[in-house]
Amino acid sequence: MSDCIFCRIVQGQAPARILYRDDEVTAFHDLHPQAPVHLLIVPNRHIAGVAEVGPGDEPMLGKLFIVARRLAEEMDIGDGYRLVVNSGPLAGQSVFHLHLHLLGGRPFRWPPG
Ligand code: AMP
Repeated sequence: MSDCIFCRIVQGQAPARILYRDDEVTAFHDLHPQAPVHLLIVPNRHIAGVAEVGPGDEPMLGKLFIVARRLAEEMDIGDGYRLVVNSGPLAGQSVFHLHLHLLGGRPFRWPPG
């Protein structure tokens, strides 16, 4: 989708600090980090969010987690990190292209705000 910022990043049409890319997913630094490490892992194919995932998406969804785990180790936060998916405006989703937040490098509280 040409008006989707994450599609534009995936396609190399918008700037981003990309850390990982394969034929299914792309990972890059969040523009407004909420922790010393704050990465986003996104499917290359446009999917608006969790509400749109369905049968056939299992490999891609699994890949998001495997890449997150690998990047957490590479970023030296393997001892403790938080994975977040905001689904819908009420939960704070602001970019409507599915993404997994990987946050680490500081303590996190529960419940989240
Ligand atoms: P969410 O609020 O869960 O939809 O998360 C969207 C995230 O995308 C936020 O943490 C933003 O800081 C981040 N973001 C928005 N635009 C960009 C961009 N151009 N490059 C990197 N991260 C972005």
